[in-house]
Amino acid sequence: MAWDFSTEPEFEEKLEWMRGFVREEIEPLETLDLDDDTLRRLTDPLKAQVRAQGLWAAHLPAELGGGGFGQVKLGLMHEILGRCIYAPSIFGNNAPDSGNSELLAEGGTEEQKERWMRPLLDGKIRSAFSMTEPGAGADPTLLVTRAERDGDEWVINGHKWFTSNGSTADILIVMAVSNPDVHPYQGSSMFIVPVDTPGVEIVRDIPTMAEPHHVTGQLGGHAEIIYRDVRIPFDHIVGGQAGLGQGFTLAQKRLGPGRIHHAMRWLGQGQRAFDMLCERSLSRYTHGSTLAEKQMVQDWIATSATEMQAARLLTLHAAWKMDQVGASKSRVEIAMIKWWGAKVLYEVIDRAIQVHGSLGYTTDLPLESMYRHARAARIYDGPDEVHKVTLARQILKRYEPHDVPSDHVPSRRAAAIEKFADQLDTAALNS
Ligand SMILES: Cc1cc2nc3c(=O)[nH]c(=O)nc-3n(C[C@H](O)[C@H](O)[C@H](O)COP(=O)(O)OP(=O)(O)OC[C@H]3O[C@@H](n4cnc5c(N)ncnc54)[C@H](O)[C@@H]3O)c2cc1C
Repeated sequence: MAWDFSTEPEFEEKLEWMRGFVREEIEPLETLDLDDDTLRRLTDPLKAQVRAQGLWAAHLPAELGGGGFGQVKLGLMHEILGRCIYAPSIFGNNAPDSGNSELLAEGGTEEQKERWMRPLLDGKIRSAFSMTEPGAGADPTLLVTRAERDGDEWVINGHKWFTSNGSTADILIVMAVSNPDVHPYQGSSMFIVPVDTPGVEIVRDIPTMAEPHHVTGQLGGHAEIIYRDVRIPFDHIVGGQAGLGQGFTLAQKRLGPGRIHHAMRWLGQGQRAFDMLCERSLSRYTHGSTLAEKQMVQDWIATSATEMQAARLLTLHAAWKMDQVGASKSRVEIAMIKWWGAKVLYEVIDRAIQVHGSLGYTTDLPLESMYRHARAARIYDGPDEVHKVTLARQILKRYEPHDVPSDHVPSRRAAAIEKFADQLDTAALNS
């Protein structure tokens, strides 16, 4: 019997170490207003401890320099790391670098892996994924950034925005149209653009709901970038010659794991909000009882716990399927958890804010910041609606239209009478 929801004891020990480490060593950093350099200085020794535990870059196979844990174990790890915004980078698998190293691992040439993926995995360089344009996001067939071949070079022209970490990255992975004469599915490619290439103009980091006062050039920004006659060598196309026209295939490889890694981290964020919800409901006395004794609050606790458990099982099941058959054959499961996980996260944080009243609305608690970050989860890596469209399309492939519903009782009854005619008193049944 292969259904097994347990964690093997040796790995559970690792997870227990991680829980303590994140709680004691990483979460306190959140309360300090650190600049990027100080943060690096404080986190470098922590990264060394993670490496010593053999837990660094767990998202990639061992032969590529990662921990080789597979997606299910990674899910259990991310559930812990997701509690704190700093934790994934201290474990070498923060977005967008984790997705980009996975993309290079899956689609890069050996030289590209050596030159960019390994330094990325070692935390020596940073990367960004530059796909969305002001005029094209949810529908990437509308992308217009152009890459034209000129001798031994590619020349890229275009306007991107929301390139997360673009202003702090060393390399940008840029999606562009390499052949406008065919369908974008065959006419798009990905290119590795070192950020210091002439013609790359970081216009600004766009302030957002999560970071309204963000200063361009700080970690965690979302860059608007103009690519103006940016010349890169021919071999900077991801996958080399074989990568020509493979932009959409590679995007699926990049976005599938990236999406589920987000969903895994959201489990940790959601649990943290839920812990605060429960603690407050037991602690606050009002209108004759604690909040925990009010049925409406009990409803929030029961609903949140059930929705979070559903999110956890959907996430771990999608991860298990990826381990069995790969990301592209797990699209349905990944689409399900992408929209469901984002919704559950957002609503659990909202209830946790509500139960804290005015305190929940203040910056004295992390909830308001968690809420602002969580809102974006319903948009980035594909908005909810697009994942639901994908889901519905894939699910409907299992069905066929019927003029008369196949479960139509009178029709089934007629068929049943015919099937069992020998054994039935049909005259009595038809009367
Ligand atoms: C915080 C953050 C970080 C991001 N990081 C990156 C990054 O690193 N790299 C990158 O390339 N991009 C990034 N993005 C961009 C993100 O992937 C896009 O915002 C997303 O794909 C949606 O595109 P759009 O914003 O252009 O929305 P649009 O395409 O304009 O869509 C707007 C809305 O239309 C609706 N909609 C769209 N299609 C359908 C449909 N078929 N049916 C019904 N409704 C529909 C949805 O409600 C959607 O929200 C980031 C975005 C955010 C907010």
